Amino acid sequence: MDEPSTDVPGDDERIIEGTGAAPGVAVGTAYRHEASAPRVHHGAIAPDEVDAELDRLANAVQRAEQELETVRTLAPDALAADTDAIFEAQALMLRDEDVLQAIRQRIREEKEPAGTAVQEVLGAHRERLEESDDAQLRTGADDLLEVEQRLLRALRRSTTMAHIGAQSVVVAEDLTATDLLRFRQHDLLGAASAQGGPASHAAIVARALGLPFLVGAGEALQAVASGERVIVDGTEGRLVVQPRAATVEEYRQRSADTSPPMGRGTEKTGRPLQTTDGHPVTLRANVGLEAELDRLRSGPGDGIGLLRTELFLRAKGDPRAVPEEQQVELYRTAAEAAGSAGATIRLLDLGDKDRGPGRAAGAPENDPVWGWRGLRMLLDRPDELLRPQLRALLRANQEGVLRVLLPMVTDVAEVRRVRQVMDEESDRLTEDGVPHDSNLPLGIMVEVPAAALQAPAFTELVDFFSVGTNDLTQYVLAADRGSGRSTVRHDALHPAVLGLILRVVEAGRMSGCPVEVCGEIAGDVQAVPVLLGLGVDTLSVSLPSLPGVRRIIRSVGYDAAKALARDVLQADDAQAVRRRARAWIDTHLSPAETAGSQDENARDPTASD
Ligand code: PEP
Ligand code: MG
Repeated sequence: MDEPSTDVPGDDERIIEGTGAAPGVAVGTAYRHEASAPRVHHGAIAPDEVDAELDRLANAVQRAEQELETVRTLAPDALAADTDAIFEAQALMLRDEDVLQAIRQRIREEKEPAGTAVQEVLGAHRERLEESDDAQLRTGADDLLEVEQRLLRALRRSTTMAHIGAQSVVVAEDLTATDLLRFRQHDLLGAASAQGGPASHAAIVARALGLPFLVGAGEALQAVASGERVIVDGTEGRLVVQPRAATVEEYRQRSADTSPPMGRGTEKTGRPLQTTDGHPVTLRANVGLEAELDRLRSGPGDGIGLLRTELFLRAKGDPRAVPEEQQVELYRTAAEAAGSAGATIRLLDLGDKDRGPGRAAGAPENDPVWGWRGLRMLLDRPDELLRPQLRALLRANQEGVLRVLLPMVTDVAEVRRVRQVMDEESDRLTEDGVPHDSNLPLGIMVEVPAAALQAPAFTELVDFFSVGTNDLTQYVLAADRGSGRSTVRHDALHPAVLGLILRVVEAGRMSGCPVEVCGEIAGDVQAVPVLLGLGVDTLSVSLPSLPGVRRIIRSVGYDAAKALARDVLQADDAQAVRRRARAWIDTHLSPAETAGSQDENARDPTASD
């Protein structure tokens, strides 16, 4: 990937380069978001700020309690006895009326900001406990420190929300999907982060929200201050700071020339999608938000290839706790929007979507990316998570248009277990006389290398494979998809990842089990001919990527793509694959065929080499 660079063309205008992760352009005011350790402002507050500060404290206590409950429910069952005691102790501390009274008193009488008052009061309690001779009381000091930090973080969150203005472009070291969803409620126009990659969850959510998003902008972003006027260009991967009037005008003109992403290139002709030599291709949509369903209804398409329920249900509150009844309604809405082509609903992939500096404190493992997430979590908590979701899907499937997809599958035994639970729930629904359709095709995400390596063993048990290249790539290349220094190495066009995809395609072909690709790479125009050439004939991509991918599929010859795939499998690394794919596109496709596609589905980290 290109080194992020700063270019100074004169006046105060500065240009910061990065990678475009969600297309579009927005002109707004920079809002700098710091998500790191809680910081406390020690200055005194004005007398007329006391009430607001007391409210802020009350909200923070409530939020900290909710967070504690969330963390408690996430702890593995095996640890429940131990963790329940710890969380109960912390919850009692949070609710301790004497302590809260002391904090409120300092805010009222000493005019201390809530954060300072919390630190003073809890700090003094902690010191007393630490000095105690009683070992149990000394342990209590650790709990109290956690409570204090939790409360400070919760307070900080309310400060953040209080200060973000309308028409903002949030600028941060790193951003999580949750951060973007929260900021969006405050009329956010766009976002830019120093870290991050286009396959991060934040990027996926930004595309779903239609929010221009620049990632990987590097250290240069640190110089952008809150209040500066900025243009975020998520298509070209650029942030213009303090733009000249002429630059703003140029961008305005450009966005006026561009119709909304779903409008551009949208076809309603029903013309079958195929390569130039008549090879049929299915193109489905990835969705995560209810708002996307309307955009889906208005376009052509082959239904939903991936509905991420951990995002979809979040609009109704904690995705783990959305009642079965409400889930049934939501899945029916998705099925109706997808039409006869159907909707693939993925079971909750909880556990890593809040990673990064903004994630909730006390997450179950230090780095859930390597640990407890997806199906592992569902199987550990069948009654709470797996059974209600499967029941809701069986019930919503009355017209038989749903498919269920399992996230983060590692071994065959896990799929057997899900099938067994699904049968049990179907029987129970029958006994209870609840209408449902047990003809619910079951597929697995191939995103843990073990599943790709053992693909032939899964073919007996599953109805389809969907390759999740976002995770597969990070596990195969040991390159974090979300943030950190290794993100630049995260590229699904690496020959090792392509080799695994080929393995799955071959296993599918031998057994008649369809193979799709739903990771972000499927929406990358340089990758599409390679994937087709590997034998993938169903792609599922984010909504903004649909028109460009459709166009490129129509321009590619299947036989020529097969030759390209054979060639790139021999390349040294992802950059070499991209060079070869780009050269192939240059020779096989006319500029007119690729122009729009490149524009809409920009990921071209090797463009300068
Ligand atoms: C993937 O890992 O490629 C995928 C599609 O799932 P998610 O991005 O939701 O982890
Ligand atoms: Mg995944």
